Amino acid sequence: MGKNTVSRRIADFISKGVFADFIKGLQVTFGYNLTMHITIKYPDQEKWIPYSRFRGLHTLNKDEQGRELCVACELCSKACPTGCITVIPMEDDTGRGISDRVARVWKVDLVRCLFCGYCEDACPTRAIRLGREYELACTDLSCTKKERPELLKPQSIPEAITGGVVAKARFIKGEEGIRVEADLGKTRKMRW
Ligand code: SF4
Ligand code: SF4
Repeated sequence: MGKNTVSRRIADFISKGVFADFIKGLQVTFGYNLTMHITIKYPDQEKWIPYSRFRGLHTLNKDEQGRELCVACELCSKACPTGCITVIPMEDDTGRGISDRVARVWKVDLVRCLFCGYCEDACPTRAIRLGREYELACTDLSCTKKERPELLKPQSIPEAITGGVVAKARFIKGEEGIRVEADLGKTRKMRW
């Protein structure tokens, strides 16, 4: 066998190998295109709805009569490994809370928070929960400190919504400007 034939055969072998790999790569690409989408058009067209076990921004809960469940016992701040919760109690017999002892100040510093959930585990009245809110980026350090009035407001993704889905995004014009929120009526299931 001549030297030229051998080198031609080696070149053929290599080009066939490369081409086969190319076809295999295309199969994977088109296969994914036809079978499942693993990316979402976040944040302006779609929003991820987290699973129920997700731990996001803290929320302070009320009972059915609208009374605050927090009794300002400070157990959450004692349990917090980073000391980022501040609770200052006060007496209040107006019915604001389920007890006469309520929080005058309840605030959390999100820069130091680990989202570990120890605070909600320590709470005897289930007043504090880590909710579904995950869009917490901001440009000013002051907005990383969240206080009681804000945490008492309902979050945009309620706990009752089953997670693992993607919702259509919708634009809402408010006093602070334009917000992009999840439209919980228009969701699609993700097949991870
Ligand atoms: S989630 Fe963890 S780190 Fe964050 S406030 Fe609660 S206990 Fe502290
Ligand atoms: S949130 Fe719970 S643990 Fe923290 S002060 Fe209120 S009642 Fe106590």
